[in-house]
Amino acid sequence: MESGLKPINRTTSMEVLQGKYQLGRLLGRGSFAKVYYAQSLVDGTSVAIKVIDKANIVNTTMEPRIIREVSVMRRLQHPNIIRIHEVMATKTKIFLVMEYARGGELSSKISRRRRLSEPIARRYFQQLVVALHFCHKNGVAHRDIKPHNLLLDEEGNLKVSDFGLSALPEQLKNGLLHTACGTPAYTAPEVVGRRGYDGAKADAWSCGVLLFVFLAGFLPFDDSNLTVMYRKIHRREFQFPSWFSKPVRWVISRLLDPNPETRISIHDLMEVAWVKKPFQSKGCKSQLDLEKMSPKFDSFRTAPVNVLNAFDIISMSSGLDLSGLFEADEKKERRFTSMASAEKIVESVKEMGRQLGYDVERRKGGSIGLKKGRLVLLVEVLEVAASLYLVEVKVVDGGTEFAEVYWGDLRAGLEDIVLAWHNDGI
Ligand code: ADP
Ligand code: MG
Repeated sequence: MESGLKPINRTTSMEVLQGKYQLGRLLGRGSFAKVYYAQSLVDGTSVAIKVIDKANIVNTTMEPRIIREVSVMRRLQHPNIIRIHEVMATKTKIFLVMEYARGGELSSKISRRRRLSEPIARRYFQQLVVALHFCHKNGVAHRDIKPHNLLLDEEGNLKVSDFGLSALPEQLKNGLLHTACGTPAYTAPEVVGRRGYDGAKADAWSCGVLLFVFLAGFLPFDDSNLTVMYRKIHRREFQFPSWFSKPVRWVISRLLDPNPETRISIHDLMEVAWVKKPFQSKGCKSQLDLEKMSPKFDSFRTAPVNVLNAFDIISMSSGLDLSGLFEADEKKERRFTSMASAEKIVESVKEMGRQLGYDVERRKGGSIGLKKGRLVLLVEVLEVAASLYLVEVKVVDGGTEFAEVYWGDLRAGLEDIVLAWHNDGI
């Protein structure tokens, strides 16, 4: 049996994940993960769960980095970006619970229809541009824009996925390029060249390739020989099919500029008349108007930092075993995060201890011991990210006497420094 998954019914092989999600069919396979359809047992909503086998992650130091990146994106909420609802981990796997895109991959539409008409291509392109602009404005680039990461909801709206995995370290990215994608067809030349690069400009390049593919039904740069393909990319060697309109040619040329310095940015792209043109079709209810959408950007806010939860903690606790966070002994242990300074945290813990009548002592290694009769508590302060501390309060002796009411007193005494408590109710 896989760790974290419990069969609820042997005859159907249906599995329940952490008592919360019923796993269904396999939706797709990626380079280092499988994606399953699932239903929330709490409210019945459909979700997609990406299951990452830790054994497939190149090395263990990568794991917290992956989760950290996902955590950044989890805060970005936009209608054209796949939301990440939750992340869970066991000793062997990471589970990303995300918004389910019912319409599947956009690429299946292109291959079925060969190519898209200009108004339809523009509509997808607009949604892509709007999503990327939102992210770039928030300081995050995708860096892996490709058809597999463009999904559709039931209304045919574009949803960009895999933002969180974008800023992976180079080793893994190169690994991905060579194993899964097999081709750098969508990758900007400076990325292929492995120089330090601007992720936002690299996204702009990928948008150019995509717009070409939407309208042509084939890639601008393609060759079975990778060296030849790189050369073509660097020399901007591609030809527009005869049916490409003049404004489209201009937009694509500006995006497929091998020099990131002179390449048009997503921000400036939004001002281009061809890009801004509203979608007009009798068959389509939703009129996408960039002018109208732009002011709404600010309402797709990033989640405030003080709503940290277990997800954020695992994302920030690079040195810790992730599985432990879900296995903490509820009766004997409490954890909270704090953004106060380490000195302030130690002072507050001591003060709280004294107020509640404990003997307080600073122990070797910096932890704090709190003693009252046979009861011994140990408080440890760990820096898990810049200016973020995880504080563990453990009952190490005399625990039988330690009831809920004591936790209540502790909580009250530490109120000033606590950002969030983490294993209450986990
Ligand atoms: P890739 O490297 O191709 O992006 P992923 O692991 O991200 O691989 O996803 C594998 C496939 O699973 C995708 O190509 C897509 O078909 C499907 N998939 C991924 N996320 C979702 C989702 N949120 N909703 C529906 N299908 C999805
Ligand atoms: Mg993907």
